[in-house]
Amino acid sequence: MGLYADVIIDISHSRLDRTYQYRIPVQLQETLEPGNVVEVPFGRGDKTTKGYVLRITDHASCPEEKLKSISRVETTLAGAQSRLTALALWMRDYYGSTTVQALRTVLPFRQKAPEKQKKTVTLKLPKEEAKKKLAWYREKHQKARARLLEALLEEAVLPQEIVTGSLKITLPTLRAMEEQGVLACETEQVYRTPALLARLQRQEMDPPSFILTEEQQRIIRVIREEWDFADGKEYLIYGITGSGKTAVYMELIAEALKKGQQAILLIPEIALTYQNVLRFYRRFGERISVLHSKLSPSERYDQFERAKAGEVDVMIGPRSALFTPFSNLGIIIIDEEHESSYQSETAPRYDARETARKRIQLEHARLVLGSATPSLETFYRAKTGGSTLFTMTQRPSGGKMPQVFLTDMREELREGNRSILSRELYDKIAERLERKEQVILFLNRRGYSGFVSCRSCGHVMKCPHCDVSLSLHKNGRLICHYCGYEQDAVTKCPECGSPYISGFKVGTQQIEELIKREFPGAGVLRMDADTTRGKDGHAEILRAFGKQEADILVGTQMIVKGHDFPQVTLVGILAADLSLNVSDFQASERTFQLLVQAAGRAGRGSREGEVVIQTYTPDHYALLCAAKQDYLSFYEQEMRFRQLSGYPPAGAMMAVHCSSEDRQKLEVAAGYLAKFIRQAAGRCKASVIGPADEPVAKINDVYRKALYIKHADGRILTAVKNVVEQYIEINTGFQDIRIQFERK
Ligand code: ADP
Ligand code: ZN
Ligand code: ZN
Repeated sequence: MGLYADVIIDISHSRLDRTYQYRIPVQLQETLEPGNVVEVPFGRGDKTTKGYVLRITDHASCPEEKLKSISRVETTLAGAQSRLTALALWMRDYYGSTTVQALRTVLPFRQKAPEKQKKTVTLKLPKEEAKKKLAWYREKHQKARARLLEALLEEAVLPQEIVTGSLKITLPTLRAMEEQGVLACETEQVYRTPALLARLQRQEMDPPSFILTEEQQRIIRVIREEWDFADGKEYLIYGITGSGKTAVYMELIAEALKKGQQAILLIPEIALTYQNVLRFYRRFGERISVLHSKLSPSERYDQFERAKAGEVDVMIGPRSALFTPFSNLGIIIIDEEHESSYQSETAPRYDARETARKRIQLEHARLVLGSATPSLETFYRAKTGGSTLFTMTQRPSGGKMPQVFLTDMREELREGNRSILSRELYDKIAERLERKEQVILFLNRRGYSGFVSCRSCGHVMKCPHCDVSLSLHKNGRLICHYCGYEQDAVTKCPECGSPYISGFKVGTQQIEELIKREFPGAGVLRMDADTTRGKDGHAEILRAFGKQEADILVGTQMIVKGHDFPQVTLVGILAADLSLNVSDFQASERTFQLLVQAAGRAGRGSREGEVVIQTYTPDHYALLCAAKQDYLSFYEQEMRFRQLSGYPPAGAMMAVHCSSEDRQKLEVAAGYLAKFIRQAAGRCKASVIGPADEPVAKINDVYRKALYIKHADGRILTAVKNVVEQYIEINTGFQDIRIQFERK
C-alpha cells in the first residue's frame, strides 16, 4: 500500500489544476483509495480544505518531512468511487477540461445543506403503567411531565418539534423521562424524497398485464445469454414508437437485480414524466429512485447517498444519472438515445452515450441504447459491428402506424389561404372535435416568440446585449429570451420611421388564440417553456390532457416525446421547416427525428391516427422520409451527405468554443488560435474551419466564436486538442478567454 497521496484541491478556477502531495496516516493506509474526498491542511495556520485523492504512490515528491498529513477521509466507497474517478480522468483527457471540472461532474461534493432529520418521541411504557405514572406525576405537581405523558397516551409517537414546541417540554425533561424508561427519543435519517417519487409512493402497484411478444423475448434472450461471458457489450434496439421497448428495459433491469446488480436508466428529462416513471415504480417499487435536473443539490446528493448505501438498485434520470455510484453496476440503458440532451453543455462537454460506453468497460457491465430514430452515429456503429442491432417493427398493443400527409403551404398561399392552418388541417381538426377525439398541434418554437421586423426596410428589433431578436409578448413588451432584457414595443421603425413594423412569426401562444377563435367550443391546453415553469407544471399539463380535460394540446417539441395518449388521433405539425433551416450539419437529422416522434403520438390507441405536416419545402428528403416513417432510407441519404462533406459519423469533428466579454481580445485570440491549430492540424492533415461567430454570437454580454477541426480519425483530434490545451495554458494571451472543446 502506498504512503503518499496526490490530492487535488477543489479550486475550480485554477487554470493549472495541480495536485499536492500528502502523507497518508498509518490508520488510513489500508483503506484510502483514489476518488476519496479528504480533508487536508492547506495554506497558513491550521486551515484545512477538501480535496480528491487522485493517485496513491510510494514515492515522495520532496523531502518527507516537508509533507503534511491527510487529516481525515470524508467519504469512502470501495471500488465504485475509484472507478468513477478513472471515468472522470478519461473524460478530462477525451473531452478536454480541468481535472476539477471532470471530478465535479462525476463525483459531486457534499452540499452544505443541513441534514434533514426526523426526530420522534415514542411512549415506551404499557398503557396501564403509563396511566399510573401520569397519576403520580400529577400528584407530585410535575406539570410538564404530566402534559407530555397525557399527549403520548393519545398518540404514542410524536414528532419532537411538537413536543418541544407546542407542548413546551424542555430537552432536560425529555432526557430525564427517557432515563426513567417512560419514553424514547429517536432519530431517523429521512432522505429528501423528490416530490414526484413521494407522490408515486402512494400509488398501487400493478404487475405487467401482458405477455411479451416474440420480438421482445428474442432481445431479452440474447442479452441474457451473453450476460455472464460478454461484458462491456453494447446493443442497439431500433424499434418504432410504441413497439414496446420499455417492457424490454424492464426485463433487463429485472435481470440485473436478480443477479444482485444495479441498473441505470437514462431518459431525456422531458420524457421523465409521472406517467413514465409510474410504469417503473409499479414494477420495482421502492427500489427505484429518480433524478431530475430540478432537484435541489441536496436532494440530488441524497439520491446518490441512497444508491451508495444500497437502498436503491435502479436509478432513473437524465444524463447526470449516469454517474450514480452503484457498487455493482450491471447495465446502463439509454432510452431515446438520439436526444440532444445527452450532450453536456458545460466542461467537460461529455456525450452521455460515449461516456456510458466507457463506464460499462470499467465496470464490466453492458449498455443498451434504444430509439425509434437512432442517431446517425449510433446506427453507423451498429452497421459497422460496434454493437448488436435489434429491430422492432410491430406495435403489440395493436395501434397501426399513422397515415401522414405533407401539405404545401406555398400552394395554400397561392390559393388565398393566409392562415397558419392549411385547409386540410383545419377540416381534420373539426372532424376530431366532432368525434370527441384529441388533437396535438406541434410547433418547434417557444412561446409567442414572433420577432418584430419592419416591412419597409427589413430592420429587426434585437436585444442590445445578446444579438438575438426580441420577441413580442402578449403584454405588448419586447423581451429577450436569453438575458431577460425588456422594452416597450415600437409603433415606428427606429431605422426608417415606417409605421409598418410588427410581429410576423407564429408562436404557440398565438396558435392557442387562433384555435380558440376558430373552434370556440374546444378545450385547449398549451405546453411550452412559459407554461411549464413550476416544478411540476409540465407533468400537470400532461396529466390534464391525459384525463381528457382538453381536446387540443398546443406545444413546442416538449410535447412530442414519449407520451402515450390513446385518444389522440391527429397530430398537426405546423411549420416543419423551422428546424430544417438551422445552420448545423445535423439540421436534417434533427428535423427527421422530431417529425417521426411527433407523428408517433398519433393513433396510439385502437383508432387509426393521422398526421399533417405543413411545409414550404415538401420535397426535402428529411420530410419525405419522415412522412413515410422510413428511417432506413433517411439513414442512407443522410449518410451520403455526411460522407460527401466528411461530417460525423463519416469523419470526426471537434468544435473549439471561445468566449469572452472583450470582443477585441476574443477576435485576436481566436485568430491566433486558428493559426496555431492550422499549423498543428496541418501536420496531421486535419482541416480547420473558422473562426466564426456562434449561431448566437453574444449571450449576456459575452461574445462567442467557434472553430471546427475535422479529420477521418477521432484520435487525431484528441492529439490536436492536447497540443492546443498546452498552447493555451502557457500563453498569457488567452487569460480572459474561455475555451471549451466539444466532440461532435
Ligand atoms: P416504446 O417505448 O417502444 O415507444 P412502449 O414500451 O411505450 O413503446 O409500449 C407501447 C405500448 O404497448 C404500451 O402501452 C405498452 O404497455 C404496450 N405493450 C408493450 N409490450 C406489450 C406486449 N407484449 N403486449 C401488449 N402490449 C404491450
Ligand atoms: Zn424600417
Ligand atoms: Zn439579451
